[in-house]
Amino acid sequence: MKALICSEPGYLIYDEFELPEQKPGYTLLKVKCIGVCGTDIHAFEGTQPYFSYPRVLGHEIAGEIVETSHNEFKKGDFVTIIPYFNCGECQACKSSKGNCCVSLEVFGVHTDGGMREYIAVPNSCLIAAEGLKLSEMAMIEPYSIAKHGIKRAALKNGECAVIVGAGPIGIAAATFANLTGAKVLVLDVNKERLDVCKSILPTVETWTANEGDILEKVSEFTAGIMANVLIDASGNLNAINSSFKFLAHAGRYLLIGLQSGNISFSHPEFHKREATLLSSRNASKYDFEEVIAHIRNREIDVNKIITHRIPFLELGDRFPELLNLENKVLKAVVEF
Ligand SMILES: [Zn+2]
Ligand SMILES: [Zn+2]
Repeated sequence: MKALICSEPGYLIYDEFELPEQKPGYTLLKVKCIGVCGTDIHAFEGTQPYFSYPRVLGHEIAGEIVETSHNEFKKGDFVTIIPYFNCGECQACKSSKGNCCVSLEVFGVHTDGGMREYIAVPNSCLIAAEGLKLSEMAMIEPYSIAKHGIKRAALKNGECAVIVGAGPIGIAAATFANLTGAKVLVLDVNKERLDVCKSILPTVETWTANEGDILEKVSEFTAGIMANVLIDASGNLNAINSSFKFLAHAGRYLLIGLQSGNISFSHPEFHKREATLLSSRNASKYDFEEVIAHIRNREIDVNKIITHRIPFLELGDRFPELLNLENKVLKAVVEF
């Protein structure tokens, strides 16, 4: 079978692999569609910390079961996978927080991922996704990340949410923030991404972050209260540091985006607000199941963020296209 390997930053090559060996407790999947994540792009660019090469990228997977020992699934079933493999024994795992396991391994990051024709995955990571389109199945993981974040921030009906970053995760977070009945404002420097966000979510307000007085805009949008829930989905250190001023008193600041620097903010300003700073890592099985239910019930449409569809055998040559701002890539999926 063919696999696409990131041999070192900037290089993707196809190689022939043996079919994964059938181990007890594992399921063999034929990969049908896979989403290209920011993580994959950063790995290709060489800007992803703790990444080792060579590596097969990809963790947002739609697959068809070829062979399984899982008694709730059979050959031909369509599934996605929870791509976070946890130890099951650390204190995080024991308190049902396997998403932030002490020794977490992410498929396609710490181990070889899904950009190949077949994969073998632990039975425990299978999630039934029957009835969804293949590209919808590949969107379950990024939407679950956003779902997890909105639950962490405990956003409520009537509150004001300000989301910084209109990439796939920011738009997904706006989708779930909107579903709670909160008032939602999305900020980004990229006007085209905001336009996509607005077209998917007409009731959400958007604002170009480098135009006009942004503090005044947030104040006006929230009737002077500021953000009850502030969400960073940009992963940009400057944006993270400069957004603390948008927090309401008693507000919660949720970091979904990740970057590698140190965050700094005014302690007195933070203290007087009795603000809460939260991180959100990966997602749980419940988040995956809830996202699937939302898609099945047509409460959310995850198709509209997909801007590019690339056949698997063209991805190696065309991957650099995804990095070029001129191509206006929001989300690309790879089809097999
Ligand atoms: Zn992802
Ligand atoms: Zn663990």
